[in-house]
Amino acid sequence: MLVLGIETSCDETSMAIYDSKEGIKGSIISSQIDLHKKFGGVVPEIASRNHLLKLEEIFLSLLNEAKIDKKDIDLIGVTNAPGLIGSLFVGVAFAKGLAYGLKKPLIPVNHLAAHTLSCEIENPSLKPPYLSFIISGGHTHIYKVDDAYNFYLLSHTVDDAVGECFDKVAKMMNLPYPGGPEIERLALQGDENKIKFPVALKNSVNFSFSGLKTAVLNVLEKNEYSIEDVAASFQFSIFNNFINKLDKIIDKYKLRKITVSGGVSANSYLRNKLSSYYQKKGIELFFPSKRLCTDNGDMIAYTAYKFFRKRKFMGVKETAYDVMPDITG
Ligand code: ATP
Ligand code: MG
Ligand code: FE
Repeated sequence: MLVLGIETSCDETSMAIYDSKEGIKGSIISSQIDLHKKFGGVVPEIASRNHLLKLEEIFLSLLNEAKIDKKDIDLIGVTNAPGLIGSLFVGVAFAKGLAYGLKKPLIPVNHLAAHTLSCEIENPSLKPPYLSFIISGGHTHIYKVDDAYNFYLLSHTVDDAVGECFDKVAKMMNLPYPGGPEIERLALQGDENKIKFPVALKNSVNFSFSGLKTAVLNVLEKNEYSIEDVAASFQFSIFNNFINKLDKIIDKYKLRKITVSGGVSANSYLRNKLSSYYQKKGIELFFPSKRLCTDNGDMIAYTAYKFFRKRKFMGVKETAYDVMPDITG
């Protein structure tokens, strides 16, 4: 079975072909970062217009790369929520047109379910039940995923998402957007024990990053520490936040497999720290390869395949946000 995945929820226009026998046959990720950089973040109107300009060209190049004809596609998956509404409309409209024209079924894919399943693409032995820890630009969620791929929200952020916190702290340091990779690079030269930043809501399973953001701002304004030490100590505090919540959830739900996905999971420092911390506790962590941490069509195609016969198809009258696959939060 050949599945086309379409992703346009934020500032990546991406499509991929997943072959249920051979895996990913082709994938194109076109990032709009350079268009948004000068504004210091993603401008929704610019994002949706550029998805519109790029989709057809990407689709044609993808068919070429995967060496298939459009008639060979058996199923289409498209991100339908959550994300920037204008950007989602563009991807969904393109997918609906294609599905209608080719007379193929269309599955609406929840972007967070797809981030979770991105960990399975390269780990064929990984099967639910497991815990899913999503650390991305818009979310910091922990889900329990059961063996029918139902998602139950166990923990979330009460204010900023962790990726957003990286981006905002980077902005305070006058670093370009997106800030995550910039902070990671600076932190390599810093001392993570220099400054003790707080872990918020210590007795809760939920996250909060707004206090950490303010604490970093206060430290930067005093100008007592090098920017490298601030970056390293900030990352160490993020790690401490993560384990404070994950440990409580693991104790309660007794699941020993955790997927960690979303843009922030590309951070090597956090990958290594989390892996060695949980290895000692006998808990297995699964990450996507770095290319699949940020938004991509691969995870949409793969999730659509997994949801085939388990989820309703998208009708011609439905659009973004109309169908929320069974995922809470
Ligand atoms: P969501 O998936 O919640 O809708 P999104 O799709 O915008 O949000 P992603 O594309 O998954 O988010 O991730 C983007 C985020 O990942 C940005 O905030 C970016 O700073 C962060 N990020 C990317 N690379 C790194 C890194 N190496 N270290 C830390 N953060 C990173
Ligand atoms: Mg992005
Ligand atoms: Fe994302």
